[in-house]
Amino acid sequence: MQTLRHFIDGHAVPSQDAKTFEKRSPLDNRVLYRVAEGGRAEIDAAVAAARRALHGDWARLTTDQRVAMLHAVADGITKRFDDFVAAEEADTGQPHHVIAHAFVPRGAANFKVFADVIKNVPTESFKLETPDGRGALNYAIRKPKGVIGVISPWNAPFLLMTWKVGPALACGNTVVVKPSEETPATTTLLGEVMNAVGVPPGVFNVVHGFGPDSAGEWLTRHDDVAAITFTGETRTGTAIMKAAADGIRDVSFELGGKNAGIVFADANFDDAVDGIFRSSFMNTGQVCLGTERVYVERPLFDRFVAALKARCEAVKYGRPSDAGSNYGPLISQEHRHKVLSYYAKAVAEGATVVTGGGVPAMAGELAEGAWVQPTIWTGLPETAAVVREEIFGPCCHIRAFDTEAEVIGLANDNRYGLSTTIWTENLARAHRMAESIEVGITWVNSWFLRDLRTPFGGSRQSGIGREGGVHSLEFYSELRNVCVKL
Ligand code: NAD
Repeated sequence: MQTLRHFIDGHAVPSQDAKTFEKRSPLDNRVLYRVAEGGRAEIDAAVAAARRALHGDWARLTTDQRVAMLHAVADGITKRFDDFVAAEEADTGQPHHVIAHAFVPRGAANFKVFADVIKNVPTESFKLETPDGRGALNYAIRKPKGVIGVISPWNAPFLLMTWKVGPALACGNTVVVKPSEETPATTTLLGEVMNAVGVPPGVFNVVHGFGPDSAGEWLTRHDDVAAITFTGETRTGTAIMKAAADGIRDVSFELGGKNAGIVFADANFDDAVDGIFRSSFMNTGQVCLGTERVYVERPLFDRFVAALKARCEAVKYGRPSDAGSNYGPLISQEHRHKVLSYYAKAVAEGATVVTGGGVPAMAGELAEGAWVQPTIWTGLPETAAVVREEIFGPCCHIRAFDTEAEVIGLANDNRYGLSTTIWTENLARAHRMAESIEVGITWVNSWFLRDLRTPFGGSRQSGIGREGGVHSLEFYSELRNVCVKL
């Protein structure tokens, strides 16, 4: 059976103690391959390689040369497009169209977009007047921060990892990546692309393993890691922030959400149903920007619930390779256990189960997979656990509302503040709503439409900082001011 290895200093290497763990398929629970399990020794080796690379050939590249190299990385991914798609499909079990049309191409784009941003973003300059009349000139220069620790989740593994690695490298840093233990394959493949296009050894390193007391924790505690960029659960963010406090390391956090979808009675009905169906159920509900709370203006409520129910009941479960399948499993049995516990909790709290609520009947080997039904509830108070807590599964609670002020209050009554999607034909209202809902990202008559130049991040407990476009550069580089007396 294949064992995925770490990628350290340009080489695929096993763990020093030869420790491995197994990766199972979400589709049928069979063991797909084994993965080297890294700990302190592998993190030490990777960080040391990344530090050496900071001062080697990589540092000597001109910005133009670095930009060209990152374009070559993107082209190298595209050249091996089928390998990346197959690896991501095997790890996540998600439908072919999602991976081939969104996750892998956007992963490649992350290298080009941020390479282009670094070429075009200016720094500031101020002329200071001085008492002697000669003045002084201040200007800022942009420097890499150092070794960046990248810790990524499993829900869109390639896209979310490259979204951090792309700008980190564009700014001249080196990286040590700890991908999710559930989805290590595409990050490992990226190491091969880095070598193929001539990225110097040590610039991009990968150490596999888990979080606490494993590769993740050792990376966040390493003295030579200058900054940590993390996407994952808010609870994990708390642990990482504590680790980063020792050594005063900078953090950028993209965390959980419990996002509200809001549909007004004047919305384009078909577009709104389609938009909320995607925001609640795409990727089997495993999207941080997804909507697990839906609020529909009362005159439209019954019709909307019925239409969304019909969409849920029409999904075609299956393998990514099955013609006609458009719906995948959850990432793991463990995650299914969590999601099903919320399905049970909703019933115990008195929900009306509009559709779903259980496990679909799957034939043959697929019966062992992490499948769950898309699920809609109504009738719960806002205090119910499934209305308050992030489930990260294919489910939503739908509630009727009567006024704009009421729905703003409902949307804001949550500890998270990642995103919202608003459906209305009244644009003045849409703008008002966008100002009033306390989230980092508001979509109007759309969802998951991403321009990589825009600020991306969460308010409240959904994150710290913004990435995207110039905002990524603010995190991945350090501005130094130079003051020259004239
Ligand atoms: P997770 O927090 O369990 O794990 C994420 C990563 O952190 C994994 O690589 C894991 O091994 C590592 N990790 C866990 N504990 C650690 C520790 N103590 N120290 C260092 N590393 C540690 O998250 P997940 O279950 O993989 O992903 C789902 C979560 O991610 C959801 O909450 C979702 O909302 C969030 N998410 C947020 C965004 C965003 O942009 N805001 C995007 C995608 C996912």
